[in-house]
Order: sequence, then structure tokens, then C-alpha cells
Amino acid sequence: MLNIVLFGPPGAGKGTQAAKLLDRYQLVHLSTGDILRSELAAKSQLGLEAKRYMDKGELVPDEVVIKMIEGKIDGNAGAKGFIFDGFPRTTAQAAALDKMLEKKNAPITMMLALEVEKEELIKRLLLRGKDSGRTDDQDQSIIENRIKVYNSETAPVQGFYEAQNKYKGVHGMGSIEEIFKRLCTAIDSRKKM
Ligand code: AMP
Repeated sequence: MLNIVLFGPPGAGKGTQAAKLLDRYQLVHLSTGDILRSELAAKSQLGLEAKRYMDKGELVPDEVVIKMIEGKIDGNAGAKGFIFDGFPRTTAQAAALDKMLEKKNAPITMMLALEVEKEELIKRLLLRGKDSGRTDDQDQSIIENRIKVYNSETAPVQGFYEAQNKYKGVHGMGSIEEIFKRLCTAIDSRKKM
């Protein structure tokens, strides 16, 4: 299996690149943000509980997202691999993911991290807020909080994968195609190892 964690701050381009990667490598895309938004649209209890955190740009509690992702992994038993997008966002989530995949004998292949400057992130998120209608992308203070939460709670996840020699940083500025090529090169050279 090819199991990729696509990493990077909000606005780094994870969703855009994940869509291209799953097409190229025939993977299943698991975006916790997308799953939570669809739960919210369906007005499920999970969605309504998550909304309280999402509206403020805070993280939904670990046990909620871990259970949710476990259900999705189990529900895609025949998958060739997964792209995890927006997950894991804490080291506790990363450890839980390792445990789940251990049971399947299909560990994380690598973490690909999109590196983008903060000014560019804010610019991209405000633009996305206009186009997509995502309310958490329309308010500069919520955006700033998400970046702050990323730096304090999510950035340490890098070290978790570095310790396993699975971390690969990729320059996330430039055209969508240029960035996609960099990601594919990183994946293909990892697959040869
Ligand atoms: P995203 O679409 O990845 O930017 O996620 C939108 C929001 O969903 C985040 O600001 C969090 O409130 C919540 N969320 C998404 N993924 C996670 C996760 N792995 N852990 C905790 N909260 C999450």
C-alpha cells in the first residue's frame, strides 16, 4: 500500500494537490476537514459538535477525529492506499494512526509537507473564502487562529515522522503543476527505496 500524509498549514494547497495525487496513484482521499463539513451539512450529532470548534479555528478533540478516521479506513478495505489530508494534526492522532495501520500491516509510507510562507497562506485562504463560501476562510482573525493552532499543536507532528525517517518537505510555492511534479518526484523516489 502507498499511504501518504499530506501535511502543511491551512492554505498550503493540500486539498488541491490531494485531488491530483489520488488520480495519479489510485488512492483513497481522506480529508478530515471535508468529512467534518459533510457531517455538518447532514446536521449529524458529530457535525454539530465539531462546528463549535471549527467556527473558532480550534481543533476538534482527538478522540472524535480518530474514531472518525478509523471508520473510514475500515470502510475502504480494498484500497490501494490512502492520502491523509488534514490528519494527523496532533502527535496523539499520529500515534493512533500508526496503531490502526499496524493492524493492517500497511504503515505510512511518507509524510509530504507543503512549505508555504505565511503571507501567501493568508492571501490564498481569503481568496478561497470568497470562492468556496467557507466561513472559517472569510475572517482574518479565525485564519490567524488556525495558523497559530497549526504552529503550536500540528507542527510538532513533523518531528514524529522525522523520527521514523519518513518526512519530506516540498516547496509549496509556484504553479499547481510545478508543485504537483515536485510531489510526484518525491513519491516515486521513495517507492524505489
Ligand atoms: P481543514 O479543512 O483541514 O482546514 O479543517 C477545517 C477544520 O476542521 C479545522 O480548523 C478543525 O476545526 C477541523 N479539523 C479538521 N481536521 C482535523 C483534525 N485532524 N483534528 C482536529 N480538528 C480537525
